[in-house]
Amino acid sequence: MIDFLPTGIELSYLVAVTLFFFGLKKLGSPATARNGNILASIGMLIAIVATLLNQQVLNYGTILIAIAIGSAIGGIAAYKVEMTDMPQMVGLFNGLGGAASSMVAVGEFWRYLATADAPPLPTTVTAVLGVLIGGVTFTGSLIAFAKLQGIMSGSPILFPLQQPFNLALLIGFVSASVYICVQPFNVPVFLALVGISLVLGVLFVIPIGGGDMPVVISLLNSFSGLAASAAGFVVMNNLLIIAGALVGASGIILTVIMCKAMNRSITNVLFAGFGTGEGTAAAPSASGGATNKSVRNIDPEEGAMMLGYARSVVIVPGYGMAVAQAQHSVKELVDMLESLGVDVKYAIHPVAGRMPGHMNVLLAEANVPYPQLYDMDDINPQFEQTDVALVIGANDVVNPAAREDKNSPIYGMPILDVDKAKHTIVIKRGMSTGFAGVDNDLFYKDKTMMLFGSAKDMVAKLASEVKQL
Ligand code: NDP
Repeated sequence: MIDFLPTGIELSYLVAVTLFFFGLKKLGSPATARNGNILASIGMLIAIVATLLNQQVLNYGTILIAIAIGSAIGGIAAYKVEMTDMPQMVGLFNGLGGAASSMVAVGEFWRYLATADAPPLPTTVTAVLGVLIGGVTFTGSLIAFAKLQGIMSGSPILFPLQQPFNLALLIGFVSASVYICVQPFNVPVFLALVGISLVLGVLFVIPIGGGDMPVVISLLNSFSGLAASAAGFVVMNNLLIIAGALVGASGIILTVIMCKAMNRSITNVLFAGFGTGEGTAAAPSASGGATNKSVRNIDPEEGAMMLGYARSVVIVPGYGMAVAQAQHSVKELVDMLESLGVDVKYAIHPVAGRMPGHMNVLLAEANVPYPQLYDMDDINPQFEQTDVALVIGANDVVNPAAREDKNSPIYGMPILDVDKAKHTIVIKRGMSTGFAGVDNDLFYKDKTMMLFGSAKDMVAKLASEVKQL
């Protein structure tokens, strides 16, 4: 039995890792994402059971208590947290992952201290890396969580000589790391390494605007994977090394996808202090206001007539639909339009909302069939033939300035070309800007009609008017 166990554990790890691979692959499409999640979860269960069967486990009681507490917290959080609050929940969980990896590295270092055997150099190096990346991930994620949750201001926090100070800390960390490789039993220096890594995490995230936190969280997610991988090297656990590498790689891929969809570089996100708030910038009133531009205001009855008598309608959901939780009402409206013979499609921008796949998840929750969802590249050529584009709580992702105005901060960001449709109806509460804080010329175009109100109310009103057609 004892002889069998190591092979059995390694084999189980191989099965778990294979399931992680296939799970990740299936997460790439909304149609297969649920199955992907289930596969990866089964892989994780196998990995946990296999690890617990390992004879080196000393105390099952403590582990079971920890599993019970962790599962309860995870279950309640997953059940209760609103979809719009998902980025900060993911951020918090990443942070705890980073802390766990850091603690594994510290624990292993302590184990060597207790035996008075100097740890091998590779163990010390990976332990130091685990402490650095894990510590930065932990405190960085806590700050990201606090900014998104509104516990602290989303504005970038800057102070004089910030960059030189950060650099000095980093140099301090590297010097202390070299020292600890030579003198591994120096506890104060090791503790200083832990302290510096925690401070660096705070300093890394505070200068970044609250609006950019989803990108930062994706990057920290990648870091948490690297920290886990480093911890895997420290305790020589193949599963941890591979699983950490998978998280690290997928996190960085997601970060790059988000940056590309916003046409911004990762350095711009991390160092430009962009995205300091949401919709707070002053905007002209519906009647024109500061810019002398005027918008055309319609009521739900007029909107319903246009939609009900159209041949083709493209729905463009955005952050406002998510906040208003209007996805179910949208599905009802679409069902009604379809019963009148209207061809309806949904246009999904890659960064609509506040997290990757935000719109896909919400629309899936309302049972919108996947084939009705069109990516930006597929739907854009179709807008010219579309009778009505119905924009629901989206702003930046439909702003033509990204295409036309070289001076706009969002110039170059790929957008949904709703202004090319024959008519555009925009549902939003007022004239506030979106995440990027820039005014939107779409609202002032001749073909655009504004339907002011909360997304859920307005869509429900449209549906009840369409019903009477
Ligand atoms: P925006 O943030 O550009 O605009 C949302 C609009 O929704 C606001 O102008 C607001 O106007 C309106 N709104 C708010 N609440 C309601 C409500 N209850 N009912 C109706 N309307 C409402 O959203 P988009 O989805 O167009 O764009 C997303 C932005 O977020 C992009 O700039 C993107 O780069 C950024 N981002 C996205 C990430 C992602 O992964 N998805 C990650 C990081 C950033 P009003 O207050 O007048 O109603």
